[in-house]
Amino acid sequence: MDQYRVFGNPIEQSRSPFIHQAFAQQTQQNLAYQSQLVPLEQFTHTVQEFINQGGKGANVTVPFKEEALALCDHLSERAELAGAVNTLIFKENKIFGDNTDGLGLVQDLLRQHVVLANKRILLLGAGGAAKGVMLPLLAQNPSAMVVANRTVSKAQQLCQQFANDKITACSFEQANQQDFDIIINATSASLNGAIPPISADMINAETVCYDMVYGAALTPFLVWAKAQGSEHIIDGLGMLVGQAAESFSLWRGVMPETANVLQVLRDSLTAS
Ligand code: NDP
Repeated sequence: MDQYRVFGNPIEQSRSPFIHQAFAQQTQQNLAYQSQLVPLEQFTHTVQEFINQGGKGANVTVPFKEEALALCDHLSERAELAGAVNTLIFKENKIFGDNTDGLGLVQDLLRQHVVLANKRILLLGAGGAAKGVMLPLLAQNPSAMVVANRTVSKAQQLCQQFANDKITACSFEQANQQDFDIIINATSASLNGAIPPISADMINAETVCYDMVYGAALTPFLVWAKAQGSEHIIDGLGMLVGQAAESFSLWRGVMPETANVLQVLRDSLTAS
């Protein structure tokens, strides 16, 4: 049976084994997928060991996505621009690296009928998650993409990498003076119960507000956006399932259907 893993530290919280086993069952693929806790200094060794055992591919999560990039013989353009790899494919004695986080986000937005073409997007944050979603978002042809970050220099650095005149970097204060159709929170602020300091004036009923973080309850950003009148608030659970579906498709050549798996995960979150 073909073997796959997700490598991370910590890893016990990972829902990837559940998601991939559900995809395998749905698409009748004969595979096993397990999570593996990797000691901080042993990422390369662990991957090599798995390859030697015949492993076919792996997902990589915090804190190894940059190390995974350095390990690859070949990278997708997405992974190269993101500076991070979340999907490894082992084939013909080579390691291929890709990054499916951004595809997962776009897939989730489109599934929820959010139009990205010719829309103005505000991306809050300039960390690994923001970086990873920029190319797939740009591929949807928005009219503008503004990256606002607490540390403005990081947003500027990120935007320079893309050399695309649709993208600009700014502070939260500067973002507050503009209008946006879609606001994507790619900061980790929600994890600490915080909200990026953006203005309530930016939100109306039509503004799509997306938080990459998810949980049993609405995230602080989504609670705030709803209170300001947004009727389109979405958390990152669909992005998680979407990125997994894209990885699965890279490995197996078949794109699983995500709605059922997402519903089961949503139910298990709210029941916990
Ligand atoms: P990083 O640590 O690389 O970046 C964190 C970002 O958040 C930085 O831009 C940082 O700003 C900003 N930030 C942190 N706290 C605050 C705050 N209180 N106010 C304003 N900005 C803040 O993290 P990642 O980019 O890897 O991840 C970001 C989030 O996205 C995480 O919560 C992660 O769980 C989520 N995520 C979800 C995925 C999914 O599938 N749903 C996939 C990947 C990530 P500064 O630069 O100034 O420090």
